[in-house]
Amino acid sequence: MIIVMAFEATAEQVQAVVDRLRDVGADAHVSSGQRRTVIGAVGDRGIIQQLPWEAMGGVERAVPVLKEFKFVSREFQAEDSVITVGDVPVGGGHFAMMAGPCAVESREQLLASAEAVKKAGAVILRGDAFKPRTSPYSFQGLGEEALILMREVRDLLGMPFIAEVLDPRDVEVVSEYADLIRVGTRNMANFTLLREIGRQKKPVLLKRGFTATIDEWLNAAEYIYKEGNHDIIMCERGIRTYEPSTRNTLDISAVPVVKHLSHLPVIIDPSHSGGHKYLVGPLAKAAVAIGADGLLIDVHQAPETAKVDGAQALLPDDFMELMDELRKIGTAVGLSI
Ligand code: PEP
Ligand code: MN
Repeated sequence: MIIVMAFEATAEQVQAVVDRLRDVGADAHVSSGQRRTVIGAVGDRGIIQQLPWEAMGGVERAVPVLKEFKFVSREFQAEDSVITVGDVPVGGGHFAMMAGPCAVESREQLLASAEAVKKAGAVILRGDAFKPRTSPYSFQGLGEEALILMREVRDLLGMPFIAEVLDPRDVEVVSEYADLIRVGTRNMANFTLLREIGRQKKPVLLKRGFTATIDEWLNAAEYIYKEGNHDIIMCERGIRTYEPSTRNTLDISAVPVVKHLSHLPVIIDPSHSGGHKYLVGPLAKAAVAIGADGLLIDVHQAPETAKVDGAQALLPDDFMELMDELRKIGTAVGLSI
């Protein structure tokens, strides 16, 4: 059961609901978002559901939920969530193209890619300061120096930016600079990191773990939501299967499945799923056609020199061409890209 408090509910009214739950032997998980407070009740369903919650002061509604994840479920919120990144809305019919280099390598490199993706119509810039690399000897990212560059380019072009955080100790610094914080596939089940991210205010892009089920992925989102951060965007980026011709297998059906189960927006990363430049276009088109709320695409002005993931990066001209094709598909499915 979830008890949704009215916008104007007082702290005393919230406490009264918590006390009432504890009186009947239930646990209360209070999630205070920017808009309202919601209380997740865990305990004997028969007892909890019988109580007249909506008669208590400050309670707007009480919602029975069958799934383990509650706050991110469609049962809890029927209408689509719209997440605002900087001033860019994502979800609920608002499509967001996020693009840029996989990693920030230098000011010149970042600025060249950023100007190109903006010109092509991207609305959020990507570029990482901290890279999760398979080998400890590979380029690990420029750290805070990259965040400073991202902020400079953001201010110059008026484009919010997304960057990954790998370590709970870096959440503060990344959230100070970035407009959207990314949890990568390798960290989807890092519950310490998820909790830390849930306690800060910036919106979060939560990638699906490459071995995670959709249920596990939604439970990861629940970790963030429960801590009070309700601004979560889901990102499907492929899962590991027995098929070696792609880096990962893009689970395109995750888009309608997540939309069926949850009110959160879902986007697709065709770059890290396919792992090859020639796959980015076809996968991106499928994403738009199936109703994804956005895309996250690697673009590099000189992929042959890229320190990370050059094989999957699009050249600015290819990206520009792809955007034109995506706009046509968007028009057919009622999305403005
Ligand atoms: C990325 O987007 O740069 C990235 C590392 O992606 P993933 O976590 O999906 O591998
Ligand atoms: Mn990458």
